[in-house]
Amino acid sequence: MCGIVGIVGTGPVNQALYDSLTVLQHRGQDAAGIVTISDNTFKQRKANGLVKDVFETRHMQRLKGNIGIGHVRYPTAGSSSAAEAQPFYVNSPFGIALAHNGNLTNAKELRDLQTRQTRRHINTTSDSEVLLNTFAYELDKTEGTDLSADEIFAAVSRVHAQIRGAYAVVAVIIGHGLLAFRDPNGIRPLVLGRRKAEDRADRYEYMVASESVALDVQGFEILRDVAPGEAVYISSAGELFTQQCATANHCPCIFEYVYFARPDSFIDKVSVYAARVHMGQKLGAKIARQWKDLDIDVVIPIPETSCDIALEIAQILNKPYRQGFVKNRYIGRTFIMPGQTQRKKSVRNKLNAISSEFKGKRVLLVDDSIVRGTTSAQIVDMAREAGAEKVYFASAAPEIRFPNVYGIDMPVASELIAYGREVDEICQLIRADGLIFQDLNDLEAAVRECNPEIKQFETSVFNGKYITGDINDDYLAFLNNLRNDDAKADREWSEATADLELYNGEN
Ligand code: AMP
Repeated sequence: MCGIVGIVGTGPVNQALYDSLTVLQHRGQDAAGIVTISDNTFKQRKANGLVKDVFETRHMQRLKGNIGIGHVRYPTAGSSSAAEAQPFYVNSPFGIALAHNGNLTNAKELRDLQTRQTRRHINTTSDSEVLLNTFAYELDKTEGTDLSADEIFAAVSRVHAQIRGAYAVVAVIIGHGLLAFRDPNGIRPLVLGRRKAEDRADRYEYMVASESVALDVQGFEILRDVAPGEAVYISSAGELFTQQCATANHCPCIFEYVYFARPDSFIDKVSVYAARVHMGQKLGAKIARQWKDLDIDVVIPIPETSCDIALEIAQILNKPYRQGFVKNRYIGRTFIMPGQTQRKKSVRNKLNAISSEFKGKRVLLVDDSIVRGTTSAQIVDMAREAGAEKVYFASAAPEIRFPNVYGIDMPVASELIAYGREVDEICQLIRADGLIFQDLNDLEAAVRECNPEIKQFETSVFNGKYITGDINDDYLAFLNNLRNDDAKADREWSEATADLELYNGEN
């Protein structure tokens, strides 16, 4: 998962881009980058690390200009090397820099095509570089140095016709403006806003970002979500153009509401907070129905996403809600931790139990989801060690049984605890006294209640139905090779070495 932002202002945009990336930091902590345009030149800074560590004063001073884009990365398709930090750049036509949130499911085919037919070179393993080159190739079909919004939209339409998967994109084109577009299913979010320019009564400044919270913080009025398949172009002079560039079939990723997005964001007119409250109400009702004979003394969230959910469950069950775990907010980066052993250790560093809330009690722990189950098992153990008499566990998301191919970093199927297992078996593995999952219908209803216009959601991790229709066993096997723990371990080691070389040769 990643976060993207783009701004066309009437004054310098570097600080606003930086601030927006810090607001979107929860969407990716692996790398960050900003590209601005000044004097017909791209100014760029990108590197591995958190926003606060990547940008120093000297970099910010360099990022001059009234137009720019930014990106925070959470690696999904593969590599975490510094060379794959975004935005990416091509020098022709015009000079384009692009940043992307999502995952292309036909990146491999497109890469082959680009090497053979269009003779373009892709220098990294990133699907975003493939996307950029596809767009550049299509934009190159225009003639002359002028570039109209219609020509840009026509190029975007041709891009839609070739690429598949999930993509929310921001790009800047030298001498022209800022472009943003969203895939025809609208799997990944993208929102558009504007504010009156302080120095020019006749102008608006425009902003696009992954989440509305980034616009709120910058004082931009939210105009609307970029529609699935729509493109938005804002010229350097501040004129806004929009066009539908592909037939829409809206199917937003439900996991944004479960786990990823900030609760103060609105995605596709749905308050993420309200959706989580509804998730708690639905799950609470299921627990009240199915566990009516169970004695529960206290409801305890596993911070932080599940706090809003757990509070609703406690109210429905008429039980006290207590913060039994404390999360260390200042935990540093965990260096190269590919396998299960290191991952296990890190949970204990992140969370600690307040034993008075557990001693002699029958506790109901609530989490937003169970993925590998490693965290859940350790948390159940911690609750017991803190003195809990019984430990029940509730997950606000249904069983995750299938890999994610649309930009969420999830393990391969075999590493998912619910893969090929039923609830009782999962319950035993996480060592709980009882386990309950949200039903998928209830999860969908929880979000849809906030916006009944959304007819379907991208829910493949729960039911294996991939909306783009192109996911077959071959692709899943390819993903398996890319993402399994051993593959990650090998890659992270070689990338760490490569990064070191890069670092030694850079700056
Ligand atoms: P585990 O079951 O051990 O993999 O951990 C589940 C926990 O990870 C839950 O508390 C979720 O909040 C969190 N989580 C869910 N999805 C992801 C993800 N894609 N990346 C990182 N953490 C996640």
